[in-house]
Amino acid sequence: MKNLDQLVRPNIWRLTPYSCARDEFKGRDAHVFLDANENPYNAPLNRYPDPLQEDLKRELEQVKGVPSAYTFLGNGSDEAIDLIYRVFCQPCKDNVVAISPTYGMYQVCAHINDVEYRPVLLDDGFQLNADRLLAATDERTKVIWICSPNNPTGNAMQRSEIERVLTCFEGIVVVDEAYSDFNQLRPFRFDLPSYPNLIVLNTFSKAWASAAIRLGIAYASPQIVTLLNKVKYPYNVNLLTQRQASEMLRSLPKLNQWLSTIRTEREHLLPAVAELSHCRKVYPTDANFFLARFDNADQLYHYLVERGIIVRNRSRVALCEGCLRITVGTPQENCELLAALRQYKA
Ligand SMILES: *Cc1c(COP(=O)(O)O)cnc(C)c1O
Repeated sequence: MKNLDQLVRPNIWRLTPYSCARDEFKGRDAHVFLDANENPYNAPLNRYPDPLQEDLKRELEQVKGVPSAYTFLGNGSDEAIDLIYRVFCQPCKDNVVAISPTYGMYQVCAHINDVEYRPVLLDDGFQLNADRLLAATDERTKVIWICSPNNPTGNAMQRSEIERVLTCFEGIVVVDEAYSDFNQLRPFRFDLPSYPNLIVLNTFSKAWASAAIRLGIAYASPQIVTLLNKVKYPYNVNLLTQRQASEMLRSLPKLNQWLSTIRTEREHLLPAVAELSHCRKVYPTDANFFLARFDNADQLYHYLVERGIIVRNRSRVALCEGCLRITVGTPQENCELLAALRQYKA
């Protein structure tokens, strides 16, 4: 890996971040707070929340097994994605490389930040080839984006290929593991000590069943976490979100029950869809959704909409021609979907 000061934008490297009232005073035993121009009434919502979410990070450390010094929390993973551009990529100068097809936000944030985005197609089995990704980089490539399990294809990328990218690339490698709780593979967040250039994204939006609260995690070296914290809005994760997240962290039995139901449903749903006469292929998945190719995906998509069932039409995405992306729902929802698919006549 290059030295961090060669990878970070010079203005960010030099930046003196905003210092808020809650940063300056850190003691625990004060009881009269007259430092932040808050209204003294309406507790607890009258107070600014902890800008570094330290209580929540300690609870997260217990569940996820990563020290809190390696943890950044944001307003969804989407905030972390945008911050990675703002910390590392100089507009109109630097570029990033990403697998393709993949999650759309990497490209949208590149365009917002005026950073060149270089997509590299996966192979026919939706696997990434480290050599092809590395061949797309040059001396101005700051970040490589990898999503595993990948959205919209559903499959996990081969660990050995990701490790090759991490070892051979001199810049930052992001591994987005939004869906890692839906499989038994070893997550990359445990490999941070081996790779100082690794950033792993996790989210409360999928397995943690909390998309509404907007909470995303970026795991990285303490040096990178400090940079992300310097650039974020001071109070980027609000109090209600911090509280609800700790509530979920204390609800592990319920969450594990939901995950196990989703896995069982996935095992029933995939073969049932594969058997339909108008389904050409169901792709294997390591996530809570799967990609399936149909004879007439556009028409089938609109037929399902007519019946009040919404799936994601990916039929115009590279390598996903004719494909719909389907999320595993409750047993009742999956039954309704299958009944509709069986009644469909092309
Ligand atoms: C759904 C999803 C996310 C979640 O983003 P949030 O902003 O945390 O809701 C992140 N990455 C991928 C690949 C996803 O599919």
